[in-house]
Amino acid sequence: MTARITIPLISTNRLRMEVDGDGVTTLVAAKGCPLSCKYCINAKVLTDTAPSNPVTPEELVEMVKIDDLYFQATGGGIVFGGGESLLHADFIAEFAKLKPEGWKLTAETCLNVPEENLRKVLPYLDYYIVDIKDMNPDIYRAYTERGNEAVLRNLRILAENVPQNHVKVRIPAIPDFNGEEDRKKSVEQVRAIGPDFRIEVFSYIIRGEETQEKEAT
Ligand code: SF4
Repeated sequence: MTARITIPLISTNRLRMEVDGDGVTTLVAAKGCPLSCKYCINAKVLTDTAPSNPVTPEELVEMVKIDDLYFQATGGGIVFGGGESLLHADFIAEFAKLKPEGWKLTAETCLNVPEENLRKVLPYLDYYIVDIKDMNPDIYRAYTERGNEAVLRNLRILAENVPQNHVKVRIPAIPDFNGEEDRKKSVEQVRAIGPDFRIEVFSYIIRGEETQEKEAT
């Protein structure tokens, strides 16, 4: 018997307006991330003990279809976040086959996943929001505790396989880790890979509980 595909669902967040692209969206947050960012905004997704619910693609369609009319009328849909959404590539592909036509699917991702995960979702996802951290491998490793080779490879795959203006690359100002010159270099390097990628430079605003705030587009 084939094992059921599930995601460890943490939460769904309905009726988001123009937050992650066009229209009304529902954010689906699932547990798990390959990185250990120093200012993680969602640290609970990293721990094995964080509360989560195993949910199948069929169950998720049932949960989110309450907003079908809003998705259809506004060009919105589902945003897979987390954690790292592309850890759940098989789930996303199955969900995409079951969902009603017209819903747009977006992944929020750090792209630090195996190539096969990205290739599995390429036929199904409409938009990508990539948190690139910093393109400098030393800064990246200091901030995330991982190398960024997979990120660069996957960014090239996106540039070659999806409309580049469907990819938003977010470049954060990370206090104590990168400076203005670093971010300029990151923008140049991202542009060299995907000239028509949409690029957003923004700041992490760090308060008691870490949050992010957009600084410039
Ligand atoms: S990629 Fe996101 S969820 Fe993962 S550790 Fe970094 S900030 Fe946290």
